[in-house]
Amino acid sequence: MKTLDKVEKLLARYTPQQSEQDKIYALAKILHDMNDRLEAVKWDEAQANQIAALVADGTLDLSTLVERDRTLLPTIRIHTHGKPKTMFYGSARSLKISIGWPAEKIKPALPYWLDENLKQDLADFADTRLQITVGYNGFEHFANFSNRNTVIKLEHPTGNLGDLDMEARKKVLDVFPVVNDIVDLRGMLTLLKPHFDHRMDVWHIGHLWSSWPVPEEFTWEEKIRRYATHEQLLKVASGLPTADVYVWNWRLTDDAAKELLEDVMQGGIAKHKAFVKRQFKIVKRYQAECRSHHWEKVRDENGFLSMALVKKMISDERHLVKMEKKHGVKRRLEICDPDVKGECKICKKHITQIHWQKHINSRTHMQKGLKLS
Ligand SMILES: [Zn+2]
Repeated sequence: MKTLDKVEKLLARYTPQQSEQDKIYALAKILHDMNDRLEAVKWDEAQANQIAALVADGTLDLSTLVERDRTLLPTIRIHTHGKPKTMFYGSARSLKISIGWPAEKIKPALPYWLDENLKQDLADFADTRLQITVGYNGFEHFANFSNRNTVIKLEHPTGNLGDLDMEARKKVLDVFPVVNDIVDLRGMLTLLKPHFDHRMDVWHIGHLWSSWPVPEEFTWEEKIRRYATHEQLLKVASGLPTADVYVWNWRLTDDAAKELLEDVMQGGIAKHKAFVKRQFKIVKRYQAECRSHHWEKVRDENGFLSMALVKKMISDERHLVKMEKKHGVKRRLEICDPDVKGECKICKKHITQIHWQKHINSRTHMQKGLKLS
C-alpha cells in the first residue's frame, strides 16, 4: 500500500515526455493487468464462498457424489464469460470451468519456515488447476483442456464428444492426470447449475466424461458414478460398439457386471464377444418361437438370459397351442362387428376382436391354458 502511495505521489509530480510514450503505455498495461488479476481473485473468492455456503447449509445434496468429487467440488469455478449465450440448435455455445487447487491456494498452506522461492516451486508443482471448455463453435464440437503451461484441443465434427478417439484422450490424460481424479464432472456441475446458471449446458460434459478410458484404480462405486450404466462401462472398457458387448434384455447384478468388466479389462474381449453372440441367439430363439416375451421369466439369477429357461417357455408355448386347438381357441378372431364378442373357451371369457390378440398373449390366458391337459 505504501509503495503504491509513493508511486502515486511520484506520478503526480511527473510531466510526460513525448519520447516516453511507449514506456507509459507499457506501465499502463501492467496496471490494467494487475486490476484484471484482482478482479479474477475477487470473483474466484466469491464463487468459493458461495459454494462453501451452499455446502454448509445443506442446500447441495452431496450424497449423489463419491468421496473424491466431494473433496473437489469446492474447487470448481464456473467462468461467467463462458456462459452459453443462446441455446437454440446450431448456434455457437460453450461452457468454461476450472477445477483443482491453484498454486495461490497451496502456497499459503505450506510451512512458514520454507524459503519463499521453494514455496512457490512446490505450489507450482502441486498446482492441479485444470481449465475445461466444451462447446460448439458453429462448425464442430470441441473440448479444450488447459493449465498454465499447456493447451490441448479436441474436436469432433459430427457432434458427440463421447465418440472422440481414444488416442487423443490418452494424450489429454498424460498431460492432465488430474482428469482421473474427477470421477463424475457432470454430477458435480448438475448440483451447481441451479445456483450459478440454470441454462448451463452440461450435456457435452456428460458425454465427454462418461467415455474416458476406465481407470483401473477406480472403485466399483466410482466406475458406476462416472459411466452411469453397465452398458456404457462395457462399451468404454472394450472400445467396441454397444451391440458387440451388451444385450439390451440383460438386467445384470452388480457382481455379474463386475466379473464381466474384469474379464474384458484383462483382455478377454474375444471371449466376451462370443458370449454376447450366444446371448443374442437366445433372444432370437425366444422372439421367434414364443407369442409374447416376458424377459424377466428367462433371466437367470445373474441377470443374463438363460437358454434352459427359454426352452421351458418354448415347451410351454407348444403345450398351450395344443390346448388351444383342442378347445377350439383361435389366435385371430374373425368377427367384423367391433361390438360382437367371441368366447375364449379356455378362460370362459367374452372378448371383442380389438382385445382378442392381447388376451391370447396374456399371462393369465397362458397360465390357464398350461393347467389343461
Ligand atoms: Zn383365454
